[in-house]
Amino acid sequence: MPPVPPMSETVVETCSAELAAAKLTAEKRLPTIGDFKKAIPPECFVKSLPTSLYYMMQDFVLLGALYYTVSYFEYFGFVGLLAWYWLMGMIGSSLFVVGHDCGHGTFSDYTWVNDIFGHLTHAPLLAPYWPWQKSHRQHHTYTSNLQKDRGHPWITEQNYNERSWFVRNFAKNPLSGFFRWMPLYTAVGLPDGSHFWPFSDMFSNTKERVQCVVSGAAVGLCLYIAYQLFDHNLYNMTKYYFVPVLFQGFWLVMITYLQHQYEDVQVYEDGEWNYVKGSLETLDRPYGFGIDQLMHHITDGHVAHHLFFTQLPHYNLMKATNAIAKVLEPYGVYKKRTSYDFLWEFCRLNLRLEYLTGEGTGVLTYPNPDQQNTKKNE
Ligand SMILES: [Zn+2]
Ligand SMILES: [Zn+2]
Repeated sequence: MPPVPPMSETVVETCSAELAAAKLTAEKRLPTIGDFKKAIPPECFVKSLPTSLYYMMQDFVLLGALYYTVSYFEYFGFVGLLAWYWLMGMIGSSLFVVGHDCGHGTFSDYTWVNDIFGHLTHAPLLAPYWPWQKSHRQHHTYTSNLQKDRGHPWITEQNYNERSWFVRNFAKNPLSGFFRWMPLYTAVGLPDGSHFWPFSDMFSNTKERVQCVVSGAAVGLCLYIAYQLFDHNLYNMTKYYFVPVLFQGFWLVMITYLQHQYEDVQVYEDGEWNYVKGSLETLDRPYGFGIDQLMHHITDGHVAHHLFFTQLPHYNLMKATNAIAKVLEPYGVYKKRTSYDFLWEFCRLNLRLEYLTGEGTGVLTYPNPDQQNTKKNE
């Protein structure tokens, strides 16, 4: 019997060429926004102020309950306090998601109502509502676009090589998640410009600068109220307010990171990028343990949120997600990854995904780890 020849390189090349061609055809035929809209039950697009208020109250009540019971947690020493911080960060992020709906105009049909509740929910978390609304809108308008996706910087091989040792390793360290949102992103302004300084790169007209001052003042007012409530005791204010806010920042960084970062994500340059393609690079990640419900499905309904960010309130995301998943089924491009190990996954990917390669080709991807290692050893 003649020996079976090993699969030749030509065969492998042909296979990958066929796969690439198949992917290209699938991309060309990707559903349009109209196709998705037709498939989603119309009631999903109805914004209900009472429902939005209900979920906002739920989050305030849960945060209140956590404050009320903090001494029980502290009974278990540092571990108990750490658990309390973790829960405060999680529910704080749920409240952030309610304000996030305000920013997208899905909290209610009235802009002024959205703006009031947006400030009420974001300012206590030390988040400047209007400036963030602006930078976040750019993230949605240009999702997975290498140059224009704001709030979520994509690092290319060249960017990475130009970074100092400290910056490279800071970004890789999952603990940097405690500082990447507040103060680094919102206050210091890395990389989009300060959200608190009216003359930063973020703003292009007087209206936006005034909004920056107003939202900053709302944060200042919350700090003043907290200072009074904590009886001018800065130690207690740090322990029971600033540290929980840092944990909330960590949750926000982790959620955002995991929705957009995974090994086979594709990031596009102008020319290759379009809205549907970019939005479909978003990933739905069920966290389990009731967390998805508590966090208003920002974790497992993110593809739907990206496709219809100004139209779907958070309480309708899952119904819409089911419809979207069905539309995408024949294309095989709906991305969902169960992530019960979300904290581990965040740490693992932070360390692993260093930079994207393929700049100039239109489509950037993460090199596989073997390639990265070979490079490092050169
Ligand atoms: Zn996103
Ligand atoms: Zn959003």
